Amino acid sequence: MVISDRYHRQRLVEGIGDGGQDAICNSTVAIVGVGALGCMSATMLARAGVGHIVLIDRDIVEKTNLQRQVLFTEDDAKTQQPKATAAKAHLTSVNSEIKITAHVEDLTSKNITRLLEGVDVIVDGLDNFNTRYLLNDFSIKTSVPFMFAGVIAGQGNVMTIIPEQTPCLRCLFPQPPPTGLQETCDTVGVLAPAIGIAASCQCMDVIKFVTGNKNKISKTLLTFDLWNSESNRVSFGKPAEDCPCCGQLLFEFLRETSSEPVALCGRMAVLLPCIDSFDLNIASNKLQEHGSFEKSETMVRGEFNEERSPDGSAIKMICFHDGRAIIHGTDDIKRAKAIFERYVGN
Ligand SMILES: [Zn+2]
Repeated sequence: MVISDRYHRQRLVEGIGDGGQDAICNSTVAIVGVGALGCMSATMLARAGVGHIVLIDRDIVEKTNLQRQVLFTEDDAKTQQPKATAAKAHLTSVNSEIKITAHVEDLTSKNITRLLEGVDVIVDGLDNFNTRYLLNDFSIKTSVPFMFAGVIAGQGNVMTIIPEQTPCLRCLFPQPPPTGLQETCDTVGVLAPAIGIAASCQCMDVIKFVTGNKNKISKTLLTFDLWNSESNRVSFGKPAEDCPCCGQLLFEFLRETSSEPVALCGRMAVLLPCIDSFDLNIASNKLQEHGSFEKSETMVRGEFNEERSPDGSAIKMICFHDGRAIIHGTDDIKRAKAIFERYVGN
């Protein structure tokens, strides 16, 4: 063991050693959602030496993210960088010895097999339950552990799902809460220290899992309320026999193919899902006839000359290379779809 080795302090820990560090260096971990949870997990796992980190996120950095999304800078927000590629750039300067893959994409039932191919563990960095249920299906179907976590305000829930050994998300909560009823960081806010607790629990279990210390992983749901200084561990025992996912292997979320447009609450914006056979160059040429739009490798973005939001400012649009679009300046899904169809086509 060389004292100047960057992982020296980690190798010293009982249960890790040289063998454990080699296992960490040879592991592939996907972080799905590079928001508050994903930023913290990604920085811990990159520093720990996870050999290949796969980052998946559909969104761009905004000023209101900086309070808790520890990888991003004011410059990332000003220049509206995609979160996945901005995170990759910062993580590379933290650890240039590991491989990092960034996907600026919305994880769906169509692309999940391609994006998560070959990963050893999946870390939840999401802000919505529908995609979590998709990951839960994938985890059970492919026997890849899934580190679930959700945080709002000062409270969090964390549970490690190890297929066939622990209950899955649907054993606990058979259906995701309806979209309109899900409390989110956009509606009730979130405090960074609560994110830190949840991400730390997730990453510790990633390290335990890849170093062969699975017996150290708690098979319980951790719930905490850091604001009121309370925490609790709930045991659900074995996987539920009647669970539609791990009991009946129905994988309903993996089979769902349509994804619907969503109004991004609190942001006066609408997210339109991927469309097939989208061409960024063609879309960019069309858009430039109708406003000031700039194209980069992964997106075209800008504002329209003729389309106005209710407050009179120009409607803005970002089209990603996979055909997704975010339209800013309206929360009316019909209008957003009409604008997309008028200027980009479908
Ligand atoms: Zn289950």
